[in-house]
Amino acid sequence: MARLAQTAGLTDIQQEILSTVRDFVDKEIIPVATELEHRDEYPQAIVDGLKELGLFGLMIPEEYGGLGESLLTYALCVEEIARGWMSVSGIINTHFIVAYMLKQHGTQEQKDHFLPRMAAGDTRGAFSMSEPALGSDVSAITSKAVQDGDEYVLNGQKMWLTNGGTSNLVAVLVRSDEGHPEGTAPHKSMTTFLVEKEPGFGEVRPGLTIPGKIDKMGYKGVDTTELIMDGLRIPANRVLGGTTGRGFYQMMDGVEVGRVNVAARGCGVAQRAFELGVQYAQQRHTFGKPIAQHQAIQFKLAEMATKVEAAHAMMVNAARKKDSGERNDLEAGMAKYLASEYCKEVVEDAFRIHGGYGFSKEYEIERLYREAPMLLIGEGTAEIQKMIIGRRLLEEYRFQG
Ligand SMILES: Cc1cc2nc3c(=O)[nH]c(=O)nc-3n(C[C@H](O)[C@H](O)[C@H](O)COP(=O)(O)OP(=O)(O)OC[C@H]3O[C@@H](n4cnc5c(N)ncnc54)[C@H](O)[C@@H]3O)c2cc1C
Repeated sequence: MARLAQTAGLTDIQQEILSTVRDFVDKEIIPVATELEHRDEYPQAIVDGLKELGLFGLMIPEEYGGLGESLLTYALCVEEIARGWMSVSGIINTHFIVAYMLKQHGTQEQKDHFLPRMAAGDTRGAFSMSEPALGSDVSAITSKAVQDGDEYVLNGQKMWLTNGGTSNLVAVLVRSDEGHPEGTAPHKSMTTFLVEKEPGFGEVRPGLTIPGKIDKMGYKGVDTTELIMDGLRIPANRVLGGTTGRGFYQMMDGVEVGRVNVAARGCGVAQRAFELGVQYAQQRHTFGKPIAQHQAIQFKLAEMATKVEAAHAMMVNAARKKDSGERNDLEAGMAKYLASEYCKEVVEDAFRIHGGYGFSKEYEIERLYREAPMLLIGEGTAEIQKMIIGRRLLEEYRFQG
């Protein structure tokens, strides 16, 4: 049988990387994922394995010790990993966004300093825009940096940092009015700081506290935290790109590739849900035959597989567009929106196919059911994606009358 979600036109190297990752997922992730997730345990052995495979440096250029691969290769790897356990894809996602932002916007000194360590997986990235009072409305950020000689002093509270505890480099977006006169548009008075810190919780650097893990309904194993800055002093050479006032654009660029990544995660989780559903439907008998032989269940499987295929095609299209050097905000927004909605629907159908057993923690689908909703929120909610898509459509189809 042809597997779902095949990608035409891959190079030999891409196919080799994907087959290695798939093998790793089948042998090292799937067998332990549910147990680790139920214990909310950080998957250290899996992370070590990914490090060995070079996945932390997948898109980092070869001159910095990475594999120099495309966004498409990265997204397809993420899809495979999320098929095994979505939390593991979360561990590499923020790292990947920070490395991408450094590659695109960092000064030469910042690239030379950070990228080789990030490629090796020794420096691990997290990114921080959200605050307790805002997530969608990034322009309302209140955390602030004030210049003091060769340093900036940062104050404020951040929220929802994926890998906030385990990372040792956080790209933090704050307001920095220095040099930006009164009345400057909010998005032009923001700066991204590259904040190095010790991994762990508590005061991880003078003026910087990571209070502890937020207890979540799913997406467990990976740590999600707050971050409190109280007189945190950062040298001026740790302003991303060396110039203040560009942080909003740098973060949005990072989030745009992050959206392809979230779409890829949706594809991976949906694929796994389909696999679980189609297997269970052939094992469970009711009214004298496997439930897969009831048309209602077959229709469900047909709908699920169609959604898996459609989401995969849109995700691949968005990644290829970015790789070709073109603007891909429309495609990334559509892919993220569709893949996360379809993921939720496919997981729900697989859950229904499992009947009462889907409600038992012994079945993998229970974990997927708690994981899928995060994709509806992370890297911009469905409403935010629709705002981006709508705005871009009105640009493309401007009324000429
Ligand atoms: C597990 C997890 C991990 C995360 N990791 C990170 C991370 O690593 N770094 C980081 O910076 N952030 C992270 N986030 C934060 C995430 O990006 C935000 O939660 C998300 O952007 C939504 O923001 P919010 O929660 O403040 O919701 P709000 O912005 O308050 O939105 C609430 C609701 O209102 C809707 N809404 C808002 N504005 C509009 C509008 N104009 N029109 C219509 N509807 C609207 C939203 O779609 C949503 O349904 C994470 C979140 C979670 C749950």
